[in-house]
Amino acid sequence: MTITSVRPSTSTELEDLDRRHIIHPLQSAAISDRVVIVRGKGSTVWDADGNELLDATGGGLWHSHVGHGRRELAEAAAQQMERLEYFTSYQEFGNDRTVELAVRLAGLSPGDLNKVFFTSGGSESVETAIKAARLYHARRDEPDRTWIISRYYGYHGANYGSGTLTGFPPMQLGVGPNLPHVEKVSPPYLYRAAEMYGDKDPTDFLIDELEQTIQRLGPGNVAAMIGEPVMGGGGVLTPPADYWPRVRQVLDRHGILLIADEVITAFGRTGAWFDSARRLMEPDIITTAKGITSGYFSFGAVLLRDGIGDTIIQDMGFFHGYTFSGHPVGAAVALANLDIMEREDLPGNALAIGEWFKAGLAPLADVPTVGDVRVEGAAAAIEMVTDRGTREPMAFPDVFGLTARIRAEYGVISRPYAHNIILSPPLVMNEEEVRRTSTAIVEVLSRAA
Ligand code: PLP
Repeated sequence: MTITSVRPSTSTELEDLDRRHIIHPLQSAAISDRVVIVRGKGSTVWDADGNELLDATGGGLWHSHVGHGRRELAEAAAQQMERLEYFTSYQEFGNDRTVELAVRLAGLSPGDLNKVFFTSGGSESVETAIKAARLYHARRDEPDRTWIISRYYGYHGANYGSGTLTGFPPMQLGVGPNLPHVEKVSPPYLYRAAEMYGDKDPTDFLIDELEQTIQRLGPGNVAAMIGEPVMGGGGVLTPPADYWPRVRQVLDRHGILLIADEVITAFGRTGAWFDSARRLMEPDIITTAKGITSGYFSFGAVLLRDGIGDTIIQDMGFFHGYTFSGHPVGAAVALANLDIMEREDLPGNALAIGEWFKAGLAPLADVPTVGDVRVEGAAAAIEMVTDRGTREPMAFPDVFGLTARIRAEYGVISRPYAHNIILSPPLVMNEEEVRRTSTAIVEVLSRAA
């Protein structure tokens, strides 16, 4: 057997080897470019050719809250690895770091969500929440409560459970049967209110639809509804203020749990530690990941009400867990990451970023291919259309092409997703960097229109 050890010396070689060996998440044959990122600091990253790129995506996927290259987090990880790299959290075992973090999360979270289950990422958090919700009902002698309601345009992950809840059909196509007992309802999408809700008030429409869906499934058959407080991947869709309180009322009436998927929104992205608290969701379970470690470790946490946590460990127990559930290095990094966010008031800076984006992106009002611009703290979506009158969504390859131009011509990384250009910068981004991002986008979109 020969073992090939390769240390590519040029960026072209790196890119060629990447093409030959790596299947990227969401890769398609149409994407031939490779941008190999090798270093980062603050809101800036560098590619293998030494090109400096301004990261308006928070590491690509909304997760970099404290920015790149923070020595404090590297040191927290290194110290923990030296002391104890990992020991299982199964059954009676545990470690000091996860205890410390669980207490901290319980203190930050709304209501009585004091029980914490640790994971390695968002999809695992959602998977855990689905199982916990179904099991909670089963343990209380309601085993028929198995249906989970999610929403079109929602994003909840890529596994068979979380991927079925996700409201983007490509996630479910061609991969055989998906998770049974999942039903989807409409999202709060105010830009498309006329086509979605006719002349009805959006919240009235959505509440009627939810009630009808529950009646069709049978109220005693529904375990939970899951939703992002503000939809991220769907295009930064903020619901009307009365939406979540009224959803909560409907669910309460039928004994259905509410899962707030805060994988994007938790830990400051929209300006609050937990966005669900601000939207008066009163969730029973909260899923988190991403910003909990700012991407310095693959980590997540599920927060559950005391009563739910206590119930699912009864009888046979909660027969669920991953080898790396409760990883002490992840917890140590999360604690150091939360310290930085508190010390630097990054939720506060997220709100400032939102105001800077609103000002910087205002000229898009005159660009005919921009249908809508939505900003919620340090999350923004620019909805691209072929025609403002018909609101026909722009095709994904065209949106992709625009973001490639923004990167090539201005050195700014934004992210195409469906027919939106998504901005989700590190929460440390400063005013000048937001201005550069906005200028790049306005100039490219204006010229391309
Ligand atoms: N939930 C939400 C709201 C997300 O945005 C994501 C990822 O973008 C996930 C869950 C899945 O997280 P992960 O990609 O870490 O599995």
